[in-house]
Amino acid sequence: MSATPLTIRMHERDNVAVVANDGGLPAGSVLPSGLVLRDRVPQGHKVALVDIAADAPVLRYGIPIGHALKDIAPGSWVHERLLKMPAARGLDGLPIATVKPPPLPPLLGYSFEGYRNADGSVGTRNILAITQTVQCVAGVTAFAVQRIKSELLPRYPNVDDVVALEHGYGCGVAIDAPDAHVPIRTLRNISLNPNFGGELMVVSLGCEKLQPERLLPPGSFEIADERQLLDVVCLQDDGHVGFMSMVESILRQAEVHLQRLDARRRETVPASELVVGVQCGGSDAFSGVTANPAVGFCTDLLVRAGASVMFSETTEVRDGIDQLTARATTPEVAERMIQEMAWYDAYLQRGSVDRSANTTPGNKAGGLSNIVEKAMGSIIKSGSAPISNVLSPGERLQAKGLTYAATPASDFICGTLQLAAGMNLHVFTTGRGTPYGLAAVPVIKVATRSDLARRWHDLMDVNAGSIADGTASIEDVGWQLFHLILDVASGRKKTWAEQWKLHNALVLFNPAPVT
Ligand code: CA
Repeated sequence: MSATPLTIRMHERDNVAVVANDGGLPAGSVLPSGLVLRDRVPQGHKVALVDIAADAPVLRYGIPIGHALKDIAPGSWVHERLLKMPAARGLDGLPIATVKPPPLPPLLGYSFEGYRNADGSVGTRNILAITQTVQCVAGVTAFAVQRIKSELLPRYPNVDDVVALEHGYGCGVAIDAPDAHVPIRTLRNISLNPNFGGELMVVSLGCEKLQPERLLPPGSFEIADERQLLDVVCLQDDGHVGFMSMVESILRQAEVHLQRLDARRRETVPASELVVGVQCGGSDAFSGVTANPAVGFCTDLLVRAGASVMFSETTEVRDGIDQLTARATTPEVAERMIQEMAWYDAYLQRGSVDRSANTTPGNKAGGLSNIVEKAMGSIIKSGSAPISNVLSPGERLQAKGLTYAATPASDFICGTLQLAAGMNLHVFTTGRGTPYGLAAVPVIKVATRSDLARRWHDLMDVNAGSIADGTASIEDVGWQLFHLILDVASGRKKTWAEQWKLHNALVLFNPAPVT
């Protein structure tokens, strides 16, 4: 625990500050301003800087994150039970494309070593992916992948990995429901992720609702060899006699793709070929103070370098919708954002909840009183660049610059949808700590606190806690992350999640009914 009491205030209007010291501060601690703490305040939690009368707004990031339920004396711990959450802002009368920031100066001369694909995209890894139409085939495919890894992969040293795209969809679902296009296009676009080199290989059961032609309709994609038909191993084919014949079919087909992937080499490509998805998970009050602002600074660097950056997590930006619509480059972009928010509001309402269902016990223990406070800290990941594009869930990104890719905030679902959008690198911030990882793209994890970075020294790739400790600036950590992104994208460095092969499941967003 550092000796000097340290608090962080984000905006000059704020009437609370966040305690930065590891382990928090005991009652009686004297802040540099002379304020004496009346209560023990845990790390990441808020202390009242002035008298806050009942019903008065509690201001953080310069905006009301709640209203006091009773009088709060200076030096008091301002916890969630003292706050009434403000209602969500309506979606009418929002500022539309009103912020016209001066264009960010281009950032030239940065490159990485990537794998160029026939469709123009660039991979950061060279992976054979095996697409599955339905969960029924998952066990057989997993068995075959084990054998591919042990028997075939050693002969193809330029191929990084073999990944089975397992998921829970494909049958037992209302496949003609209007919202079923979300999981279907998500699966389709994941199989087209730049890290899979355009090699499409599908394992199908045979009788499932999601037939291979429905998942990947002819003409909807480019494959490495245009003369080749979609490569499908169908387990119910009459030719399969016994389990091992199915496994042999998968191995035989996999080898065709492995040979082509193995012939590929990295080449120098401009940093503009990066497609970076940013998200956070296991957030705490430091997320919005250290890691997310550093990621936001890096987002601006990437946009200046001509790259694509996506931010997502609808319930975590909903309370900042006015900031986002104001930053849209055109009224059409703002309108699409409003449509995505309205769709999500209605989706939550169908389940009799609202955006406040987002926060977790860990968020609250980490000092985040409610979704408004969490959202203000989450949006900062998007930096300051104009928002030039919006994606609906499962759509594939075609644009450079900063994109709002609408997804749920669920780490697994957001990551899955950003994979479908075509991300080739993922940046993930965490305060409470999560060992999150993805099999298909490298995940760079950024810790919000030095305490977490120390304890999880072989899981966290960047320590943004140095910002709260006062040993690095937001800009320092942002540049550190930018350079690490180029190294990881080039394969010069591995992330800890890659090192340990920590991979979370693909989790499809299926807003449609199951049967
Ligand atoms: Ca998340």
